[in-house]
Amino acid sequence: MSPQARLVLNPRLCDRCGRCLSVCPLNALRVGRSYIMVDWVRCDGCNKCVSACKAGAIKAVGGASQTPRARSSAAVSAAGKKAAPHRATKPVKRKRPYEGFEWSLLEAAATLSVTFSAFMAKEAFTASKTLLAMPTEVLVPIRIGVLAIYYALQVALLRWLIHRRDGSFAEAFGLGRLGTNVAEKFRSIGLVAAGLLGTRVIATVYGLVTRELGLTPQAGADTVTRVFGTAPGGLLLAVIMLVFIGPFVEELVFRGALLRGLQTKLGVWPAIVIQALLFAAFHRSWWLLLPMTVLGIALGWLAHERRSLWPAIALHALYNALSVAAVVWVVVAGGVGRS
Ligand code: SF4
Ligand code: SF4
Repeated sequence: MSPQARLVLNPRLCDRCGRCLSVCPLNALRVGRSYIMVDWVRCDGCNKCVSACKAGAIKAVGGASQTPRARSSAAVSAAGKKAAPHRATKPVKRKRPYEGFEWSLLEAAATLSVTFSAFMAKEAFTASKTLLAMPTEVLVPIRIGVLAIYYALQVALLRWLIHRRDGSFAEAFGLGRLGTNVAEKFRSIGLVAAGLLGTRVIATVYGLVTRELGLTPQAGADTVTRVFGTAPGGLLLAVIMLVFIGPFVEELVFRGALLRGLQTKLGVWPAIVIQALLFAAFHRSWWLLLPMTVLGIALGWLAHERRSLWPAIALHALYNALSVAAVVWVVVAGGVGRS
């Protein structure tokens, strides 16, 4: 865009396809349910968003009296009025947030607090003497039900936090995009494969070394079968919970709200490391602390690098799938007594 041209924004025409966000090289755009926002300090007038917007919601017209960088930040609401100025006085820094929705530190703290409280309540309930005194046929369904409630509570909280800001799940977690072209999608797949290989190799080497040193790692099979039992139905539920639902919800919490909220105040790498440590701590095993921190860092970097949670969800699911497959193998081979 030349200094004589300016962007005209019409949120009413916007279908929130996200194309403009993908092509903006300076991360100068935000698009929400009823607004399109341009950070004029960042915007260098390249006009790529205009070309990308097929709906005609962003247009370039001539006659501006000032260059974009000379203007203050501004937003255009659905009513066509200027909204409150958007703070962006620092030089361009490509933070690459998800589309149109940035988590605040307060929202991250609220998510962590509720998740932690729910986690402690779940652990206390499932370890209670009354529950443990029940027969296995009753105990296993209750444990699975409690786990389902635990996940549902987190999703409900995230949903509420997003909706109170008029956002959507897709934009809050970058679930609407998997890369702008085929090459990007293949890059995501390659990074997931590399991440799986790297984290699994580290976990395996770590397991071998700790065993050589005489440390007794917690048996994964025991942990899984204690909750889900060894019956085929229980193992199927283990797959559903641990390979699909668990990784999805945990990614929403740790690499979604928490990472993004921390990142706004602390920067990318401190946020990645802190959420990884918290993620590892939630596994409540000193032995798992190192491999889970490594996995958390890999997942955090992946979510940040790809600007989408899908690759992190895929890596987390595949990582868990290998663990669950090993448990099923042990059970089928008769290594764990049937309960
Ligand atoms: S003109 Fe270029 S830099 Fe400015 S918002 Fe559009 S794509 Fe981004
Ligand atoms: S490209 Fe146009 S329609 Fe799509 S999100 Fe951007 S402004 Fe809206």
